[in-house]
Amino acid sequence: MKARRPGARTAPCWVLGAYLAIGLAATSARAKETFSIDYVVTISAATPHIAEVRWELAGIEEVARLKLTFPADRYSTFAGSGTLQPLPDGMLWEPGGPYAHLTYQVEINHARGKQQRYDSYAGNGWIVTRARDLFPRIGITYHTGTTASPKSRARLIFRLPRGWRSAAPFASAGPATYPLSQPGNTLDRPRGWFVLGRFDLDRQEIDQVMVEIARLPGTTFSPRNLFDFLDRTLPTLKKLLVATPAHILVVSAPDPMWHGGISGENSFFMHTGRPLRTPDKTSPYLHELFHVLQPYRPGPDADWIEEGLAEFYSLELQRRAGLIDAPAYGRALGYFERYGLWNVDFTQQHDNAATNNSAPLVMYAIDQRIQRATAGKKRLDDAVSELAREGGEVSTARFLRAVNQASGKDFAKFFDRHVSHGIPPDIGSAR
Ligand SMILES: [Zn+2]
Repeated sequence: MKARRPGARTAPCWVLGAYLAIGLAATSARAKETFSIDYVVTISAATPHIAEVRWELAGIEEVARLKLTFPADRYSTFAGSGTLQPLPDGMLWEPGGPYAHLTYQVEINHARGKQQRYDSYAGNGWIVTRARDLFPRIGITYHTGTTASPKSRARLIFRLPRGWRSAAPFASAGPATYPLSQPGNTLDRPRGWFVLGRFDLDRQEIDQVMVEIARLPGTTFSPRNLFDFLDRTLPTLKKLLVATPAHILVVSAPDPMWHGGISGENSFFMHTGRPLRTPDKTSPYLHELFHVLQPYRPGPDADWIEEGLAEFYSLELQRRAGLIDAPAYGRALGYFERYGLWNVDFTQQHDNAATNNSAPLVMYAIDQRIQRATAGKKRLDDAVSELAREGGEVSTARFLRAVNQASGKDFAKFFDRHVSHGIPPDIGSAR
């Protein structure tokens, strides 16, 4: 891309007019691309656990400096145009311009938890990792006097050993090249899970979503079963969360990867040992997919909402799809009740038994009571869709307001009793 004259920063009126003419808000004038970034990730066959990352920027007169935040033990060997100044938690980069570049190395392997299982790993001929493991967090400062909102045109490019390929949760434009676009973001950056190397990749379009399943060597998981399962559940989940993702990447890998699921942007990882449905009939896959598609984030008192909704719907969506019958559904509710942590304040709880057993049972009870209050016209879905439409941070108070709105009733007493005091809700003969 040609560097722009400094005078070209201000969006001319006709650009604004043109955007308004096609029905976009005036703020969409920012969609004018004023600079470009290529993020190039190079892996060598000799040292696959070290990624060499290079950023190539053009047309960045507006950018004064970038603050890069990263863990010191995994990032090293920074070099670039302009000046680099080490900080306690990262690096301050004044790139100069209008053309600039930055290079650094990242250690791919990252273990977590008591068992030291990996959530980023270079195996024998493959790599499973996330954007957050390869790229620092970025804070960007513009020169004063920049009147237009700058907007980047960005690409993620992998340079890989011979015979390797890549999967990422975006459409590719050529081999291992992915245009990045996040409307509303100044600086488009890579997000979500990546798979590199030798692996199986299956894809199927489900309800206008390109679902890709990457299976690493040693994975026993059947993509057919997951496609069939999602065929019956994904459309309802999309509607519930008012989500229209173009792509979803599911990554299935064996040991020594993390023994569970981890959601990311338009993608999630699941250890190959996890079944599509656990014996209690909830689904770890639907649970993670709920997190992937939820367009809100939990506030400090809302872990119980975040996990309670994902776990409740991992059961409920299967019931609606005819994948589980009433007795199995009732037994699952019974497990929530039996293994829940009760008589504690859920808004202050991060304990798994409270957030993933008690909270989904409370969600079930709320769903039942909304239906009863509205003669079946409304249900928990209406409250959840409202939160999804609004986005942002969800707190217990905001969730209560959404439930009140859906039901036309005041649930404050119910929340006080069954959320703040954690008293098990009466679910009658359902279990
Ligand atoms: Zn969860």
